[in-house]
Amino acid sequence: MRILVTGGAGFIGSNFVHYVLDEHDADKVVTLDALTYAGSKENLDGILDHPRHEFVEGDIRNQELVRDLVDDVDAVVNFAAESHVDRSIEGANPFVTTNVEGTQILLDAAKDANIDRFLQISTDEVYGQILDGKFSEADQLNPRNPYAATKAGADLLAQSYERTHDLPVLITRTCNNFGPHQHPEKLIPKFIKNAAAGETLPVYGDGSNVREWIYVEDNCRALDLVLREGEISEVYNIGSSYEKTNLEVTEAILDTVGAEVDLIEFVDDRAGHDQRYALETAKIEALGWEPEYTFKQGLEQTVEYYLD
Ligand code: NAD
Repeated sequence: MRILVTGGAGFIGSNFVHYVLDEHDADKVVTLDALTYAGSKENLDGILDHPRHEFVEGDIRNQELVRDLVDDVDAVVNFAAESHVDRSIEGANPFVTTNVEGTQILLDAAKDANIDRFLQISTDEVYGQILDGKFSEADQLNPRNPYAATKAGADLLAQSYERTHDLPVLITRTCNNFGPHQHPEKLIPKFIKNAAAGETLPVYGDGSNVREWIYVEDNCRALDLVLREGEISEVYNIGSSYEKTNLEVTEAILDTVGAEVDLIEFVDDRAGHDQRYALETAKIEALGWEPEYTFKQGLEQTVEYYLD
């Protein structure tokens, strides 16, 4: 399979490119990434000169470039996005142009090319918050911050291209990832670095917000499975069932790094901070997937990576 991976110099995208090249000897990957503040070629260390990999620096909003690249592949996996909720609260415009318009430009190129699969990478945040129970793929989208709203917009556009143009679209919605290559603005890498440096760990509100955490390698395995074996037009939730409050995650980081709990500092809560996300995962499990890493095992690997 020849795969165009957008956003492949970012956190999950780069882990996915490494995973595909390692696991599928016959596959070729083209990575398209604009190298925003969140992307880095260092995330592709060891594979920039790989014979089955090509890196292209460019923007998914560049129609001509996108058409050229999509014409030569069998599948598109769209990770490219503005991904940080706090930044979307400060200013939503790049979120709208990359996450929505960029996805539309990719979908149009894919519609006019002869591609076999279009995998849109989405998030549990599109469902909004849930206090009890878990979201299934059939639940209504109810995004509550600008980042999540643009991701929901992209999901709906992708689904509309499947229905209107018969584009072979699949969508995955994964919970919070952690692991190597994540930008230090995000909670887990930031807190590991602060804990190691003896600096405070700023926890939003009272730290009671609950997130479900998946080790990035487990997510990449699930995404790869959906890309190859998922049913066209279907949405797949990918969750680990490891639910933690932000305070529990913070304490686990301090414990793993070996730092003192008095580094915790409670700060003003994020505006519109969703209380809890949780995903039902029967559909992805029916494809034969389950997470291999416990939260503790994933965190130990992650701490080791960042302290290195
Ligand atoms: P990230 O911010 O680490 O990476 C995004 C990448 O996209 C970066 O390399 C950036 O340079 C690139 N990019 C941004 N705008 C671009 C543009 N206009 N054209 C080309 N490239 C562009 O994000 P991530 O955490 O790796 O997330 C990847 C995808 O997975 C996103 O779509 C996100 O919504 C989704 N997702 C993330 C999580 C998570 O926990 N991180 C969970 C569920 C879903």
